Amino acid sequence: MLTAISGINWGDEGKGRMVDLLSENYDIVCRYQGGNNAGHTVINDLGEFILNLLPSGILREDVVNVMGSGMVIDIEHLSKEVANLKKSGVKISPENLKISNRAIITMPYHVMQDCLEEERLADAKYGSTRRGIAPVYGDKYLKKGIRMGDLFHKEALKKRLEGIVEWKNLTLKGVYDAKPVTVDEMYDWLMKFGEQFLPFVTDTGLFLTEALKQNKKVMFEAQLGALRDIDFGIYPFTSSSPTIAAYGPIGAGIPGKRLDLSIGIMKAYSTCVGEGPFTCEMFGDEAEELRQAGGEYGAATGRPRRVGPFDVVASKYGVMVQGSDCLAITKMDVLSYLDKIPVCVAYEVNGERVDYFPYGEELEIAKPIIEYVDGWKCDINKCRTVEDLPKAAYDYVKYIEKAVGCPIKYISVGAAREDYIEVK
Ligand code: GDP
Ligand code: MG
Repeated sequence: MLTAISGINWGDEGKGRMVDLLSENYDIVCRYQGGNNAGHTVINDLGEFILNLLPSGILREDVVNVMGSGMVIDIEHLSKEVANLKKSGVKISPENLKISNRAIITMPYHVMQDCLEEERLADAKYGSTRRGIAPVYGDKYLKKGIRMGDLFHKEALKKRLEGIVEWKNLTLKGVYDAKPVTVDEMYDWLMKFGEQFLPFVTDTGLFLTEALKQNKKVMFEAQLGALRDIDFGIYPFTSSSPTIAAYGPIGAGIPGKRLDLSIGIMKAYSTCVGEGPFTCEMFGDEAEELRQAGGEYGAATGRPRRVGPFDVVASKYGVMVQGSDCLAITKMDVLSYLDKIPVCVAYEVNGERVDYFPYGEELEIAKPIIEYVDGWKCDINKCRTVEDLPKAAYDYVKYIEKAVGCPIKYISVGAAREDYIEVK
């Protein structure tokens, strides 16, 4: 059984929260792309955690977690993340964490390059998390990456590093006039932070293939949402890897397997961290009120998130590219303060109403068409069944469901594990 949990919007939909909840019935949780630009917040009886690299299944003792070959891993960051979780009593060992030998290592020079480029771009910046993600994926495709499995072959690694560092310094010095890095520094860094993970590094494709033969249930956890996918998102304001569900098996190391279930996670309203077109964006007091109500500050960076009403056009597109079989709607409780809830039902482009998600310049000039639906004006955090919900809240769910054309199976009414409704 292969299930994907993916984001329908711009990210931060609450994927980590839903993986934490739904992984109860799974044996394995696998991250298949991205790096520590992700920020998944999970609140359960163990406490509150922000996971950047580790799959959200790490908080369940009987779940095995896989960091797949599609990921980029900053081993210094991972070592801190693991140490922090261990301090909170979370058990992490080669038994419950498997790291792909093919996953690429995010090197210190990638982080440097990311920062240097954002500085150079100044006002035209991409809004990068400055964690080296674009440079490391760029190098992967230029075939200048170092992989986790390379840590086993020290002689060969050093030799390869010599060539790569020489090449990278051409960019650091020549393009940015920055201090070059040395082979020794980079090698020492790899040893300092890498060696501890050697017992965790394995062929995760083989591991998952064997697990599936034994009928184990596997869940894929996406980082970021559909609109940040490198191919289908708002390029170039995307992430640098595929965030879509279909990539799950590939980024996990089992490219020939098919998904059995694709669950899309979408928020009851919209948020977007970083730059790029965000048609439904709200400004001023209205925006500030929603940002405060939802606590919309980035988990990875602390940046205030841009906010807006639920966007039917973008979400319908998200559902399509994710191939969602069903959906979870999160943060419904946040909208409880509103008398009337705005919804972006379509866009206007050059004076015409459009219902499809536009491309390029059309998207840049698109304006939101807003309709209002009734609010419910009461706390819904303790609702556990559809019958507990005020009518207006359930009507809102049904309205969104119809608008995006995909059944909503879960309604999240709070950040804690048990704050949800399963629609039967
Ligand atoms: P992810 O990147 O998709 O995992 O999402 P984030 O963790 O970055 O952002 C989602 C935020 O919303 C986190 O702080 C969660 O704790 C919180 N959250 C998730 N679901 C709900 C919900 O239903 N209600 C409320 N109030 N908060 C939620
Ligand atoms: Mg996040």
